[in-house]
Amino acid sequence: VVVDRLVVIGGDAGGMTAASLARRRRDAAELEIVVFERGGFTSYVACGIPYFVGDVVHDPDVLVARTPEEHRRRGLDVRTHHEVLTIDVAAREVQFRDLHAGTEHRLHYDDLVVATGAVPRRPDIPGIDAEGVFGVQTLDDGMAVRRWVDEERPTNAVVIGGGYIGLEMAEALVRRGVHVTLLEQAPQPMTTLDPDMGALVAAAMRDMGIEVVLETAATGIERVGRRVRGVATDGAALVADMVVLGLGVKPGSELAAAAGIPVGETGGIVTDDRMATRTPGVWAAGDCAELHHRVTGRPVAIALGTHANKQGRVVGLNVTGGGALFPGVIGTAITKVCEIEIGRTGLTESEAAEAGFDAVAATIESTTRASYYPGAAPVTVKTVAERDSGRLLGAQIVGREGAAKRIDTAAVAVWNEMPVADVAALDLSYAPPLSPVWDPILLAARKTAELIS
Ligand SMILES: Cc1cc2nc3c(=O)[nH]c(=O)nc-3n(C[C@H](O)[C@H](O)[C@H](O)COP(=O)(O)OP(=O)(O)OC[C@H]3O[C@@H](n4cnc5c(N)ncnc54)[C@H](O)[C@@H]3O)c2cc1C
Repeated sequence: VVVDRLVVIGGDAGGMTAASLARRRRDAAELEIVVFERGGFTSYVACGIPYFVGDVVHDPDVLVARTPEEHRRRGLDVRTHHEVLTIDVAAREVQFRDLHAGTEHRLHYDDLVVATGAVPRRPDIPGIDAEGVFGVQTLDDGMAVRRWVDEERPTNAVVIGGGYIGLEMAEALVRRGVHVTLLEQAPQPMTTLDPDMGALVAAAMRDMGIEVVLETAATGIERVGRRVRGVATDGAALVADMVVLGLGVKPGSELAAAAGIPVGETGGIVTDDRMATRTPGVWAAGDCAELHHRVTGRPVAIALGTHANKQGRVVGLNVTGGGALFPGVIGTAITKVCEIEIGRTGLTESEAAEAGFDAVAATIESTTRASYYPGAAPVTVKTVAERDSGRLLGAQIVGREGAAKRIDTAAVAVWNEMPVADVAALDLSYAPPLSPVWDPILLAARKTAELIS
């Protein structure tokens, strides 16, 4: 009996979802499944790192959804501390190194899943390797940050980069009693929002005691011996006992690109909607892959666990004879910094203009509950629509508890290309402890529709 071999590179969201589903659909007598993972963990939840650092979650074990041992018990040959060095697509082989033994070997595959994730951006500035400077990409990174906070008891931290990971890490450090300065090169934090909405985030962060330094770039890490002491910028220098990098990521597609597997303009591996790459027998899933944006029709690279899990599923089905499709993305994302929740979907006003849409936008202020109900908190919603068709192109939300998840209503409308007038008429729920009678999404859609009619 000839047993096919599926090789997976990367043992987290994309790779393990694909491997686990393939195993559920094919037993070991039909398909051997080998997963190579450079690190020591599998199926860990990077998304939980800020909450572990902030001590909202106390036990790091809960951040591992399934250990290598649990995967092995389910029939997967999981090889942690094994790094794939090259892919030979002609011979259908991977060359890998056992990082503990220091030995190198080759292994044949029938199908290969590349799920190598993303690579965090690191500024090329002097002193970046100082002790006390942390990236937060892997669980090991998260453990290292937490250890530093527990043991070194820093007074001042600088978070470089105002994307969602920077914001979540800022919150984590505030929770631990650290004075935080957020340094951002752009004129606003959260550049995935329009400037007016980003300004609300900056104001709210300042109200919470976070120092927000905008339009300023880090130019170096100042040290005493090996240890970080501060951050030099093109403005004033900042004092710091620790620095966290939150500068975003790029697709981790180098291994694939070196093998001649086509990579697109975003740096992500090009796939069709079955997640097959252009190289026979090779599939891709997760942050390493390029995505199709359903509103602009353009390729994008958006590193999110939501996409990695869904794509892993599509690959797991398709490598075992299924016909699953990944339908693309619309850029839906939520986050929170201290009491402020942030949501976005589709296109911002600036993105819509950039993509060539003649768009209109309206912003409303409302509350998360009936205004008289205790705990009612402010929420601002901005919606963007195409002028001619009235189609909802995108929405952004900044508000207090109960605000961000409302973005999902808008996401469904954007996905289905609904006109804003129809969104304004949706039968959304209402009860005073949970919503005003006009849900903020309805108000924003109505105001946008009025600009069109
Ligand atoms: C701090 C933080 C917070 C986040 N919060 C959210 C959130 O709230 N919501 C959300 O949707 N997403 C969030 N994300 C993003 C989410 O974690 C990622 O999108 C998701 O993990 C991507 O899964 P992946 O399998 O593509 O890549 P990864 O999870 O990066 O896994 C890739 C794996 O491949 C391994 N690997 C790479 N190259 C090799 C090689 N050559 N050989 C062997 N192994 C290799 C790596 O060690 C890694 O374990 C967050 C990420 C971080 C870092």
